[in-house]
Amino acid sequence: MILLDGKTASHAVKEQLKLQVDLLKANNKRPPHLAVIIVGNNGASETYVASKVKNCSEIGFTSTLIRLDSSISENELVHAIHELNINSSIDGILVQLPLPKHINEQKIIEAIIPEKDVDGFHPVNAGKLVQGLPTFIPATPFGIMLLLEHYSIQTKGKHAVIIGRSNIVGRPMSILLSSNQQYGNCTVTICHSHTSNLHEICLQADILIAALGKPEFVKQSMIKPGAIVIDVGITRVEDASTKKGFRLKGDVAFDEVAPMCSYITPVPGGVGLMTIAGLLKNTLQAYLTKQ
Ligand code: NAD
Repeated sequence: MILLDGKTASHAVKEQLKLQVDLLKANNKRPPHLAVIIVGNNGASETYVASKVKNCSEIGFTSTLIRLDSSISENELVHAIHELNINSSIDGILVQLPLPKHINEQKIIEAIIPEKDVDGFHPVNAGKLVQGLPTFIPATPFGIMLLLEHYSIQTKGKHAVIIGRSNIVGRPMSILLSSNQQYGNCTVTICHSHTSNLHEICLQADILIAALGKPEFVKQSMIKPGAIVIDVGITRVEDASTKKGFRLKGDVAFDEVAPMCSYITPVPGGVGLMTIAGLLKNTLQAYLTKQ
C-alpha cells in the first residue's frame, strides 16, 4: 500500500507556483491577488480561511481577508462581492461556505463574476467543465486530479466509483474522471444517499472516492483488493483527549481499509492540502488570463 501524501504533492505544486511568482516579480509585475470573504466565525471555516491566507503568503501571492459579521444581509454581501468584482487589483474571489442560513448560497456564488470565480462554483464555469472547455475546476476535484498526476496513477479504463454528488466535490469529480484526458477516461459510477446497492457497487471500484461527510463510513468489506481509495471527508469528531477537543475523521475507516488498497489518502494530510494547491493554481490562472 502506498500512502498518497498530500503534503509532498501539494509542496511540489506550490514550489512550481512560487517559481512563477518569483519570475513575475523579477519582471516588475505584481503577484496574483486572492480575496477571501468569511461571514461569521464558524470554527472550521476559520481554520480553512487561515490556511488559504497562509498558503498564499508562502508562495508570494497577495491575499486580502474580509471578515463580515454573521448578521450581514444578503444584499450587503452581494455589494461587498461587487466591489471586489470591479477592483482590477483582485484576481480571484472566494466566499468561504457555509454561509448563515438567511443568505442564499447560490445567489452569492452567482454574484462573483466567472472570471474571478477561483472556486469554480459559478454555473458558467460549471457548464464549461461539463463541455470540456477551459475553466476553473473546483479546488477539491482539481486537487485530487493533481494528486493522481503527482503519483502517475493510471486511470484509463478503470471503474471509478464516487460516493457523493455535491456540486463542489462529487459531481465535478465524475466529469473529470470520465473526460477524455490523461488522468481521466474512467468508467464512472456516481452514488448518493438514494443508491440502493452501494456496498456491491463499491466492491467493483478500481478507484473509490468517498465524499459524503460521514466519518468512517467506508469499511474494509466495501473494498476491492488493490483499489485506489481517495478520502475527501473531513468531519470534526469530539475527542476530549485532544487539546482542541476534537479530531478530524475521514469518510474511510483508514486502519481497516488501508491494508486492502494499492494507494490511499490519509485524513488529515491528503485531499485537504491538495484542495489548497488547486485553489492557488486557479488564482494564478485568473491572474494570467487577465494579462
Ligand atoms: P454534501 O453534504 O454537499 O454532499 C454529500 C453527498 O453525499 C450528497 O450528494 C449525498 O447524496 C451523499 N450521501 C450522504 N449520505 C450518503 C450515504 N449514506 N450513502 C451514499 N451517499 C450519501 O457534502 P460535500 O460538500 O460534497 O462534502 C463531503 C465531505 O467532504 C464532507 O465531509 C466535507 O467536509 C468534505 N470536504 C472536504 C474537502 C477537502 O478539502 N478535503 C473539500 C470539500 C468537502
